[in-house]
Amino acid sequence: MSEQDSAIGFYSGDGRFGLELPHGVVQDILRICQAAGGIETGGILLGQYNSEHTRATVHNVTGPPPDSQHFFARFLRGVAGLQELLDRLWNKKEKRFYLGEWHHHPLPIPAPSPDDIVQMQEIAKSDRYACREPILLILSGSPTMDWQLTATVCTRNGEVCPLISSRRS
Ligand SMILES: [Zn+2]
Repeated sequence: MSEQDSAIGFYSGDGRFGLELPHGVVQDILRICQAAGGIETGGILLGQYNSEHTRATVHNVTGPPPDSQHFFARFLRGVAGLQELLDRLWNKKEKRFYLGEWHHHPLPIPAPSPDDIVQMQEIAKSDRYACREPILLILSGSPTMDWQLTATVCTRNGEVCPLISSRRS
């Protein structure tokens, strides 16, 4: 198996947070970004935590809900259908959880913007998502050529923790 086929891992230096992105999930993200044709797009990360709650594994991602607003350098994720989706996942035998958000930065700017951080901190505090430590995953650059993934955890008490990627480019 080549590096290209394997999962991408992210971790914090102190071992408190980890994230695993299977190859298929990365491919789905690249496909959704390509379909958006160069404007920002995004969606939600869904999956599970390990029993110590130190590592999240993304099982699937959604694309943008229909009421999302796309701009060249800004994406406001809509909420249409979101609650129904979260309820459905919760009720499934193999529970899946809301883990956080992902979006595309068409320009190669891998860091979250100040707006991105504010949005994540609102999510961390919101009861709707029941997620105290949501992850923000950003795909930056061209989805067909030279892209980079970065992950940041934003906690309910206002901490912003960038994760280190295992992917070597
Ligand atoms: Zn952003």
